[in-house]
Amino acid sequence: MSELKPVRGTHDILPEAMRRHRRVTDTACEIAARYGYQEISTPIIEFTEVFQRTLGETSDIVTKEMYTFQDRAGESLTLRPEYTAGVARAFMSGGLQHSLPLKFFCRGPMFRYERPQKGRQRQFHQIDVELLGIAEPLGDVEVIALGAHILDALGLTDKVTLELNTLGDNESRQAYRAKLVSYLERFRDKLSEDSRLRLERNPLRIFDSKDEGDKRVIANAPLLRDHLNDVSKRFFDQVQAGLKAAGVAFEINPRLVRGLDYYCHTAFEFTTETLGAQGAVLAGGRYDGLMAAMGGPPTPGTGWAAGVERLALMIAEPKAPARPIAVVAAGGGAEIEVFAVAQKLRAEGFTADVGFSGNLKKRLARANKAGAVAAVILGEDELKKRAATVRDMASGEQTEVPLSSLGQHLARYR
Ligand code: ATP
Ligand code: MG
Repeated sequence: MSELKPVRGTHDILPEAMRRHRRVTDTACEIAARYGYQEISTPIIEFTEVFQRTLGETSDIVTKEMYTFQDRAGESLTLRPEYTAGVARAFMSGGLQHSLPLKFFCRGPMFRYERPQKGRQRQFHQIDVELLGIAEPLGDVEVIALGAHILDALGLTDKVTLELNTLGDNESRQAYRAKLVSYLERFRDKLSEDSRLRLERNPLRIFDSKDEGDKRVIANAPLLRDHLNDVSKRFFDQVQAGLKAAGVAFEINPRLVRGLDYYCHTAFEFTTETLGAQGAVLAGGRYDGLMAAMGGPPTPGTGWAAGVERLALMIAEPKAPARPIAVVAAGGGAEIEVFAVAQKLRAEGFTADVGFSGNLKKRLARANKAGAVAAVILGEDELKKRAATVRDMASGEQTEVPLSSLGQHLARYR
């Protein structure tokens, strides 16, 4: 019955997991707002071009991971694998060039055709922030500090390390690229097939490879940081000085690159050792070349994305939902009245859970299982007096209470 299984790599998020998920995204949204980042949402489907042009023809995402299909009109559409390209598209199609700088927070599902394993799904969720229109290094400092603040609010500061690097500007990267290629050419036969392709098209990306053979070759490769021009050096110095001023601890990782083509200068990743092989929890960098690559006005940008499922696995158990007041009928005649009482309690802010069927004993047992703190029992005789019996579920003690003061009596259970 394959049609009754979820699609491989996708998951139903049941209440307990959803509480963790919400805690991550709501905390992030709230902290982001304190930095002036407002929430937006872009469509889950975009024209395939949006990702193909921006992520680069050689990126893993474009070559292997995209969910691309033709719609009924023959348009090639793709389920978004990341947020940045869609936000950039929205920026251009919405004519937002005149509103810069812009600070956006986004959350939602992403789709990548990957091999599913712990912390790696085919449908997963990201939180994401984008800062558009700020070319200064302090823009990078702000988004990184925001990321660190969110991780701290989630109680994760001790579980993560911020790794920082620079990819320099175009001039620095071009100069370095030649050196890197001539080094890598000597080890061509030791490289994976993927990396031999990268060697032609985007050799820097070989640093991002998870292949063990590639990693051994890369370990002794020349480093970009030794080929930075003055502009790039100064930019990187200012990012570091800003982070220190903001009190954000970091480690330089000279081999950190980003998997996407449009990045320059700052690249960073918060990593953890608590999730096994899937160590990256929040990653991003500066993408000044993106808008132009999409055919829009050159616009600097910087930002990051974080995996909600990975963060949700790491946080402490969130607070359980409020325990309900059960409202149950003791006999058929009170069945309708139960609903009226429950509605009134809900209007007063209580969590009220109606016991639907079975005799009183069954309904109370079910209320107990649902974690009810108290049960309001409505019987025909009591209703004639406009009263109810309130049962304290912990002690079993029962009290007759007039319906008019039910809310007051139940206040103790809030
Ligand atoms: P990885 O190296 O783990 O493949 P990535 O470089 O592809 O990560 P990004 O594109 O930077 O990841 O996405 C940002 C974050 O989204 C990651 O740090 C991770 O937490 C999360 N993420 C990425 N891919 C997946 C996935 N398939 N399942 C769950 N979370 C993911
Ligand atoms: Mg990946």
